[in-house]
Amino acid sequence: MFDAFSREVGDYYDQANELLRAMFTDNVHYGYWPDPSSIDPLAEAGERMTEQLYERLDVSAGHKVLDVGCGVGKPAAWLARKTGATVKGANVSRNQLEVARDRVRSEGLEDRVSFDLADAMHLPYADDSFDRIWAIESMIHMPDRDQVMREMARVLRPGGRLAIADIVVRGTLDDVATAVVEGFCTLSTARSLEHIDNYPALVEKAGLDLLELTDVSEQTRPTGPAVLPAFDVLLPTLGEEGVAQSKKAWGDMFDLPQYGYVLLTAGKP
Ligand code: SAH
Repeated sequence: MFDAFSREVGDYYDQANELLRAMFTDNVHYGYWPDPSSIDPLAEAGERMTEQLYERLDVSAGHKVLDVGCGVGKPAAWLARKTGATVKGANVSRNQLEVARDRVRSEGLEDRVSFDLADAMHLPYADDSFDRIWAIESMIHMPDRDQVMREMARVLRPGGRLAIADIVVRGTLDDVATAVVEGFCTLSTARSLEHIDNYPALVEKAGLDLLELTDVSEQTRPTGPAVLPAFDVLLPTLGEEGVAQSKKAWGDMFDLPQYGYVLLTAGKP
């Protein structure tokens, strides 16, 4: 069962898949720069973001891990190779899943990494069926974060752990910031950006214990300028004006003091 907005997100990723891969690499997420003033390439910073989540999740060989919103499967394959765990990716984009399945076939990981076309709003898994879950930059697309948090808590086994990376807002949003955030959400087919201060309650409402929450806004902010030139790949489809508008919607977000990014870990009692 797909929520209407989840279907829209799936269509967006189906259609934008190749462009996003060109813009971000196959880690379809932001980069992590421990020292934001020394900017090395996005490809390396994107790997470091995956590692940030890995370090928090405490995955061992034999664990069953769920990747909620798995993109083109690069983080899932990386985690399986690194840890010996079995990884299941869930995603609403058929085209991304096709790339993900080709990847695990060519890397010989089919016995341990598999993917389902599934909406995180209604995860097609039994209660308590995963030891670990991560959701890397998929929460911005969720029609209802509370419901997705409850779903993730339901399929996580007691004693299990969840790690989330999410683009958020911080501080107070005036009209200018609100308009910038709306422009960014439209550009990215994001439903909304959560306020970082709301995350502890979101975690607790789902019946999980917050173990750690880190504001990594400044370590991820260089993603803005790093990705900006790649918008030119959109020229044939959007034209010069369209590309200029998209660059503005993207760039303005990263210039906002209220731009934020959170990494957090939660446990199921
Ligand atoms: N986690 C991946 C991709 C991040 S992009 C990576 O780090 O490389 C966001 C991903 O979330 C996309 O693959 C998108 O299709 C997926 N997604 C968005 N809404 C979803 C939903 N409701 N259910 C499952 N996946 C979803």
